[in-house]
Amino acid sequence: MATEQPGPAKPHRVVIVGAGFGGLEATLGLAGAPVQITLVDRRNHHLFQPLLYQVATASLATSEIAWPIRYLLRDCCATGPRSRPCSPR
Ligand SMILES: Cc1cc2nc3c(=O)[nH]c(=O)nc-3n(C[C@H](O)[C@H](O)[C@H](O)COP(=O)(O)OP(=O)(O)OC[C@H]3O[C@@H](n4cnc5c(N)ncnc54)[C@H](O)[C@@H]3O)c2cc1C
Repeated sequence: MATEQPGPAKPHRVVIVGAGFGGLEATLGLAGAPVQITLVDRRNHHLFQPLLYQVATASLATSEIAWPIRYLLRDCCATGPRSRPCSPR
C-alpha cells in the first residue's frame, strides 16, 4: 500500500495592507521569518504624517516627509511585482 509523502513545506504567505507605520513595522518585524510577505499600498510612498504641519507651513518640502516604499525597504526586501523573501537587515 503506497503512502503519500508530503512535499516540501511551502512558506506561509502574509499579506500586509498599507505601508504606513504599522505596515512597515510589521514587514520589518517579519524580515527573516520563513514567510512570503506581500506588502500592498495604494500609493508607492510612505507618508510621515507627524511632519505634515511643517509641509503645510513650508518649513519642509514634500520630499522630506514622503519616501518611496521600495527605498525604505531596500536593505530588507525586493520590491515590485516579483518579490523574493525578506532577509534580516
Ligand atoms: C498631522 C498628523 C500629525 C501626527 N502626529 C503624530 C505624532 O506626533 N505622534 C504620533 O505618535 N502620531 C502622530 N500622528 C498619528 C500617526 O501618524 C498615525 O497614528 C499613524 O500614521 C498610523 O499608522 P498606520 O500604519 O495605522 O496608518 P497610516 O500611517 O495612515 O498608513 C496607512 C497606509 O495604508 C494605505 N492604505 C489606506 N487604504 C488603503 C487601501 N484601500 N488600499 C491600499 N492601501 C491603503 C495608505 O496609503 C497608507 O500608506 C499624526 C497624524 C497626523 C495626520
